[in-house]
Parts: sequence; C-alpha cells; structure tokens
Amino acid sequence: MNNSINQSIKEAIELIKDSDNIYIVSHVQPDGDNIGSTLALGLAIKKLKGKVNIVKVDDIPSYLMFLPGVDMIKEQDITAPIDLLISLDSSDLDRLGIGKEFALKAKKIINIDHHITNENFGHINIVSPTSAATAEIVYDFIRELGISIDKDIATCIYTGISTDTGSFVYSNTSSRTHLIAAELLKIGIDAELININLYQSKSMPSAKLFINSLSHLETYLDDKVGLVSITREMLMENNAKMEDTEGIISFIRGIDTIEVACILKEMDEEEIKVSLRSKKHIDVSKICRKFNGGGHIRAAGCTIYEEISKAKQLILDEIISTFR
Ligand code: 5GP
Ligand code: MN
Repeated sequence: MNNSINQSIKEAIELIKDSDNIYIVSHVQPDGDNIGSTLALGLAIKKLKGKVNIVKVDDIPSYLMFLPGVDMIKEQDITAPIDLLISLDSSDLDRLGIGKEFALKAKKIINIDHHITNENFGHINIVSPTSAATAEIVYDFIRELGISIDKDIATCIYTGISTDTGSFVYSNTSSRTHLIAAELLKIGIDAELININLYQSKSMPSAKLFINSLSHLETYLDDKVGLVSITREMLMENNAKMEDTEGIISFIRGIDTIEVACILKEMDEEEIKVSLRSKKHIDVSKICRKFNGGGHIRAAGCTIYEEISKAKQLILDEIISTFR
C-alpha cells in the first residue's frame, strides 16, 4: 500500500468518526468480495459507532448467505439523511444500481476498490489495483480504524479474498494475500466451514446447468477462445437461476489451450451480461471497457444491450481482434 493510499485511509477514518448517518452500498450481481468487504466494514463500523446502514441493491447469492451479519444488508429508505456513503468493490457509480441514488444524495462518498478501471468517483478514493481483493484493503482499513478483527469480521474478509483469488490461485494472489489469510486463520476462522459454503455446496440444478452448458461449449482460434451462452430457456430447462452459472467460466479457462474464456448470460431479451477471463496475455478489462464495462486484466465484465446472438458476435469480434 503506497503513501497516498495510507493518507486516504487516514482521511476516510476521520470522516467516518465525524459522520452520523453512514451508509454502505453493495453492488449489482454482488460477489464474495463485494459482500465480504461490505459486511466486514459494516461490522467494524457498527462496533465503532453502534449503528450502520447497509443498502441491499440486488439479491445475495445463496452461497454467501452463511456470512455473519448478512441480515444487516437490507432495502433502505432513500428519503433518510445520508452524511456519508461508502462504496466497496465497485469501479463506477452505475454498478451500484439503486445504490447510485443513495450515493448522489450523500454529502460525502468514500470509494474503496481494487479495479484498474475505477473512475475515482468518491470524495476520498482508496483504489489499490495491486490488491487481490477489496477485502484486502478493508483488512488494512479496519486495523487502522483501531477495531479488533474478531472471528465474524475475519470470516467476511477471508471470503472476499478467497473468492476473488479463486482460492488463492489467480495471478492477483500475492505474498501479502497469504500473510493476511494467515492472520485471519490465527484469529480462529472456521476455514473448513467457509470452504464448504463457497466451493462444495453446488445445488443439483446448478450442476445440471454446468453439464448442459459445457456440452455446448464453442471454441475459436484453434481453441484459444472458449465461449458458452446461458439463455433463460436453459435456466428453465434445468430449474436453475443465473447465480447457478458460478464456476462455468473458470472451468473453461482451465482448459489447456484456452487463453480467453467468455460466458454470455441472457438477463433479459436484449440485456446480455458478459463475463471474460484470460490466462496469461490478454487484458480483458480493455475489451469490456469498449462496452462500458470494466474489471481487471484477467477478469472483467460488461452488459451488451442486444439480442444474444448479436451480443455474441460483437464480443467475439472484439476478443478475436485482440489476438491480432
Ligand atoms: P464477473 O465476470 O464475475 O461478473 O466480473 C469480473 C470482474 O469484472 C469483477 O471484478 C467485476 O467487478 C467486474 N465487472 C463485471 N461486470 C462489470 C461491469 O458491467 N462494469 C464494470 N465496471 N465492471 C464489471
Ligand atoms: Mn473484488
């Protein structure tokens, strides 16, 4: 963490100490890092100030419902006063969904994130693209806040780090990542319970969707690009939900020849959520930026507002052109 980030953390802590009505927002289609960071900081601020409001902007995936404090994430009253809003793991305001309205109303915004594409939309921006997860930044933040990291907070931080590093496998995993994880283990988290919830609780519909979708895997450029489309019809056939697509894209990237893995999810007729992963060479955040999305070099996403076959062609053209 460099000096300017440390300075921003200090300023943010002063602001938290001086603010009354504090709101934390999750983002749309939240993942383990978003919910883990949100709850860890939420629990810490609750310890410090006795109260915190956490805005639910989208459904929480069932594999994260075991997290301590998850009930604190609720729909909130937009007409209430908001002195300070904290955004975690979101690179831009649009990704906050309904949370954007809360942000625009807030007197001050603290933006804590690790995306390379972060737009620095806060009054205070704590953006560290070298951190493997926002939860890593939150770990430092809570220590600086002077709140002791108890088992509940540690569980949330560990979840954020584990999910964003693909269980300490992705290239963003650093020695610091392992050092923080070691500290969390020392605090006494139940890593077995966390791992079972995160990685060994796939529902049968999700398993069926996994098998079904991969049987339709398409590959391009001598199997360097792998793509799967998930239509709403496929969800119905397998009695599955969109969150049940978790794990498909990592599996595709796991194939030896694959450099770029792509999954298209039909959220609505002309609303296609695209996720991209790369292995060694391609910066997928650049590809997603072309469609107003963003993310990291090896993991990024965007939404294309076209019908699924058209969206597929658009994203494939961009992917293929990056190999030239
Ligand atoms: P996923 O593919 O799992 O949805 O997201 C991969 C990464 O890209 C995550 O870090 C996520 O925050 C980011 N990401 C996904 N979709 C979008 C998007 O539409 N806009 C931006 N800015 N980032 C996204
Ligand atoms: Mn993250």
